[in-house]
Amino acid sequence: MIPFVDVSKEFELLKNEITSKINKILFSGQFILGEEVSTFEESISHLFKTNFSIAVNSGTDALHFALIANNIQKGDQVITTPLSFMATTEAILYAGAEPVFVDIDKDTFNIDVNKVEQAITEKTKAILPVHLYGNPCNLDKLTEICNKHNLIMIEDCAQSFGTKYKDRYVGTFGDVGCFSFYPTKNLGCYGDGGLIITNKKEHFHKFLLYRNHGLVDGEHKIIGFNSRLDSIQAGILNVKLSYLNQFIEKRRKLVHLYKNYLSDIEEISMQKEEDGAFHSYNLITFVAKKRDELFSYLKDKGISCGIYYKKSIPEQPSLSFLSIPKDSYFIASNIAKQVISLPLYPTLSESSVKDISQKIKEFYAS
Ligand SMILES: *Cc1c(COP(=O)(O)O)cnc(C)c1O
Repeated sequence: MIPFVDVSKEFELLKNEITSKINKILFSGQFILGEEVSTFEESISHLFKTNFSIAVNSGTDALHFALIANNIQKGDQVITTPLSFMATTEAILYAGAEPVFVDIDKDTFNIDVNKVEQAITEKTKAILPVHLYGNPCNLDKLTEICNKHNLIMIEDCAQSFGTKYKDRYVGTFGDVGCFSFYPTKNLGCYGDGGLIITNKKEHFHKFLLYRNHGLVDGEHKIIGFNSRLDSIQAGILNVKLSYLNQFIEKRRKLVHLYKNYLSDIEEISMQKEEDGAFHSYNLITFVAKKRDELFSYLKDKGISCGIYYKKSIPEQPSLSFLSIPKDSYFIASNIAKQVISLPLYPTLSESSVKDISQKIKEFYAS
């Protein structure tokens, strides 16, 4: 049996450090925010060379807060991708704004930067790109468009902690970068967690208010939220942060092996990368002929795969109240019918990668 993800095997690897950290926190009596969270935020600011880092409860909250800090509201439009986790679009709707979808590029699976400009109207306030599966968008082009049209860029980096574009971390290109620490992300905790990074001081003060009921100096200044990160999650993140580079390198090495083994299979085509991309490979995802049959074949052989995502966002039943033009997600809809993601995590063995690849070859040869 090869599971699709294996977070408990990773825990085994770090169990001494993590259990002693949790033990220390349990005895400290500080369970919400506190020193572990501040230490984590400082390490993040240092890593990203960013002025401000604010830990929150989830990646979804990070996106929601990024939008409202920029006063995005009812009547505004936000351009985003139709192929992502639902939270990207939900955050736009929480803010009261209208999501405007720009179809993906069929090779990178990211928003097609060449179609963004034609979607801009006088209502457009922001662009919310997603670096899907850890693959950076063309940030030169997106930055250029935002500058030209005076738009805010909020980066959804939930799948791309550690991803770089032209030697610079994603999340540092836009006004705000948003991250998730959901357990299966590149940097995952053992519960829910999220992060916002920004260089803007006025945003920083808003984020602090949002995450803790608008509370400052004993007074509630605004109607806020409860989005405090707990100390145990921060403690786990503090431990895991020091393994991040090593874990990403391992992911990249395994992907390199997969690509070598699978390169001669005509029925599959790998996600393409932009020039200057440093893909952090939260997922290895490709387009495969007879995707559903391949998925079942591998499952029967004890190999679990994933599908990200079964349907594009505009096709989800929860959005049926919106009238979304079909041509804004035509490619995304097609790609969703063909993508498959293989097992990929730092504790996956090279021999498993070989076995999985062999089974895929067998499937197409039969
Ligand atoms: C995981 C994810 C989110 C949401 O993060 P949570 O921490 O689960 O709220 C948002 N966007 C993308 C692209 C994601 O993969």
